[in-house]
Amino acid sequence: MDRAMYTVLAGGVGASRFLQGLAMAVPQHQITVISNTGDDLEFAGLHVSPDTDIVIYALAGAVNPETGWGLAGDTFHVVEALQRFGYERWFNLGDRDLAMALHRTRRLREGWAMHRVVAELVAAWGLAVRILPMSDDPVRTVVQGPEGDLPFQEYMVRLRTEVEVRGLRFAGADAARPAPGVLEALREARAVILAPSNPFVSIGPILAVPGVREALGASPARRVAVSPIIAGQVVKGPAAKMLASLGHEVSALGVARLYRGLVDLFVLDTADAELAPAVEELGMRALVTETLMSTPERKRALAEAIVAAVEAAP
Ligand code: GDP
Ligand code: CA
Repeated sequence: MDRAMYTVLAGGVGASRFLQGLAMAVPQHQITVISNTGDDLEFAGLHVSPDTDIVIYALAGAVNPETGWGLAGDTFHVVEALQRFGYERWFNLGDRDLAMALHRTRRLREGWAMHRVVAELVAAWGLAVRILPMSDDPVRTVVQGPEGDLPFQEYMVRLRTEVEVRGLRFAGADAARPAPGVLEALREARAVILAPSNPFVSIGPILAVPGVREALGASPARRVAVSPIIAGQVVKGPAAKMLASLGHEVSALGVARLYRGLVDLFVLDTADAELAPAVEELGMRALVTETLMSTPERKRALAEAIVAAVEAAP
């Protein structure tokens, strides 16, 4: 493995914005993404991998810039037409997005391992990054709510996160093995970056695959995390609500505490500069910089600041 490699643990929207910047700061072939497949679901008999596809679309410049997921300009005729057959209209799978799901499902039925399928999709989109699913084995995030367990997408999309999260479970994780290349990508990279993704349901499932947390904990790579929380708030999504309902401080410091022992450098926003000393007391260095990735320039600047910090390290 290339010692110049940047390995990124990635969920969907937050991670993909970060990866767009990283791909401006280092050549794509120096980037390995370990993608969360805990969000995967069966829809109309198809295997959908929302987080992996968001990352592919974003790096290919094809993502819908308004939503951060799906393909720009896509339509939703198929999911609407499915209502005739009693399908509920809550899961958003665009008509052109469906092509990914169709092909992925076909390959899986042919017996291809997920990492091979993802590699084929990545190549078909003309990307030079390497994207690895966290595991070839199925792992499914389950939200434990007041009225019982919910598959992740039901919580996220159907119920629009309006359910108190009392706990999380990663069904299948105990028996899952890291996909080929995952442990090497953690051990042998120049840097391992935990993207500004949801720590519980994007990074959490990846760390739940046996061997991953240990490999990260013991990795000689420069280990970096970027806070998805800015000034006590999320940019989007349920991470702040989950921090609160699971008993953590709703701040970048609360996130840093979750990553104690796994990270050497914690990146937090200038709005949170006053938290830097408390972050450093956890045994990690703090890097205070602009982390709101609202424009291509900001994405690039954040990635360049991290690359500079990594390259400056002994
Ligand atoms: P999902 O799988 O699509 O939910 O996406 P991720 O887990 O990768 O990312 C969700 C997280 O990204 C949320 O907690 C957001 O606060 C965070 N996020 C989104 N945009 C930004 C941004 O511009 N800067 C930072 N620091 N975090 C962001
Ligand atoms: Ca996700």
